[in-house]
Amino acid sequence: MSKSAPREIWLTNTLSGKREKLEPQVADKLSLYSCGPTVYNLIHIGNLRSGLVADMMFRYFKRAGYEVNYVRNYTDVDDKIIQRGHDEGSSPEAVAKKYTQEVEKDYALAGMLEPTHKPKVTETIPEIIAMIGDIIQAGQGYVVDGEVFFGVDKFPGYGKLAGRDLDDLMAGARVEINDKKRNPLDFSLWKPAKPGEPAWDSPWGKGRPGWHIECSAMSAKWIGTQIDVHHGGEDLVFPHHENEIAQSEAASGKKPFVRHWVHHRFLNINKQKMSKSLGNFMLARDFLGRYGAEVSRQLLLGVHYRTILDFTDEALEQSFDSLERLYQAKKLARAALGRKYGMGDAMAESAWGEFAASCQKARKEIDDHFAADLNAPGALAVLFTLVRTFNRLMQEPRSAGSPSAALGAGELIRVMEEDIGGVLGVGRLDPDKFLADLSRMRAERAQERMAAAPAGAGSAGLPGAEEVEKLIADRKAARAAKDFAGADRIRDELAARGVILKDSAQGTTWSYR
Ligand code: AMP
Ligand code: ZN
Repeated sequence: MSKSAPREIWLTNTLSGKREKLEPQVADKLSLYSCGPTVYNLIHIGNLRSGLVADMMFRYFKRAGYEVNYVRNYTDVDDKIIQRGHDEGSSPEAVAKKYTQEVEKDYALAGMLEPTHKPKVTETIPEIIAMIGDIIQAGQGYVVDGEVFFGVDKFPGYGKLAGRDLDDLMAGARVEINDKKRNPLDFSLWKPAKPGEPAWDSPWGKGRPGWHIECSAMSAKWIGTQIDVHHGGEDLVFPHHENEIAQSEAASGKKPFVRHWVHHRFLNINKQKMSKSLGNFMLARDFLGRYGAEVSRQLLLGVHYRTILDFTDEALEQSFDSLERLYQAKKLARAALGRKYGMGDAMAESAWGEFAASCQKARKEIDDHFAADLNAPGALAVLFTLVRTFNRLMQEPRSAGSPSAALGAGELIRVMEEDIGGVLGVGRLDPDKFLADLSRMRAERAQERMAAAPAGAGSAGLPGAEEVEKLIADRKAARAAKDFAGADRIRDELAARGVILKDSAQGTTWSYR
């Protein structure tokens, strides 16, 4: 965190399968390239995980003291974009422009930082053509009827990222019928244009680039021939990133193209990868519109990036619960900061002193977690331990009323907003506003569940949100009048009808069982 020497960071490198120390080529500087979306429709929350993992890396690298050159591309020429142009009765250019803007809206809704550069394929054509020329020159590309291929058997070590050798890959390959290729694993660098498709002049005739060469050329243009950290989803390891290595190293003659390969695992739904082609997706737009950046980030970054994220109702509810705990503590802490205090209590003062010291320790521990393979859940667990201790101290009137409560509260807010918030982007909102939003989100979900419940469930007793809120108010009034038996009766009645109440220092929340 110090300005002078950046922190040592360790990340799992897909190439070795081991956790390795980041060794930037230039001291204090890191380059980060993340494979961005193909802009032919709206992104889903699996794609959002990709954007958020890259955003977390960018934020943490900066926090750790590095000057970061973060490049995230847009693939704006592609078969799917061309198809979409036909389907929408517009042009591929219009489709790419529209969805680039739409994706940017989602990224902004999710609170992502702007990358240093956001290159597009269509703005990189001269560099792509030059790179293909270099690959042919190096004897690793060949031309057949206006199409340029990369010859994988001319590249020693092809398959190293995937951890397979050529024979292995051949055995597993879907052999496409393509008479032009010398080896079924060879891939296109340049494709000849078909009528009506976007095309550019090149030494091999009119055409457009293959997918893999784009990222090699865009990273070379905006970072250079060697990258410190290259990120993408696990599906990109083979063939996309394998091919990027082959192209970039063939063209520049420099190894390694990438020092550190980082891949996040999928977001799954019902044990299947969420994807547009499977039709099992939830749009980032819909999710963000409904639950906002805070819940999205807690849900998508709260699980380690190298763990599959199962997108379920339970996972969503857990994110609600975690954020509720966090913001209720923040609300208490805010109140403690604004209060007037009388005389201090010696024991309480010393307890708060200890708490302030544990906040300092926690800051270091949180940083250690992020520096050890971006362990976001580990970092969050440290914060939640502090929250528990803070709540316990605040429940004791003597410590809650002792002046150093304000000191402890200030320290806790700092850990929340700076150490966690600075990297994960959660915990920085106004607690009253967020807690009100959360109640609304819960009530909406409960109402939906009721609407979806089989006919008769309502008449069997499941009460509506309004009725629950009214009964909670009645119960509060009963308690205020010291009618505890009456208050318990209301709670039991609600429980019998499938509603669980949760009491805390801030009031009562509820959910359907
Ligand atoms: P695409 O537009 O499909 O090329 O994907 C853009 C980025 O999102 C890539 O880094 C993919 O690996 C990633 N991605 C796609 N689907 C998922 C998913 N279900 N979970 C996590 N990441 C994904
Ligand atoms: Zn890429």
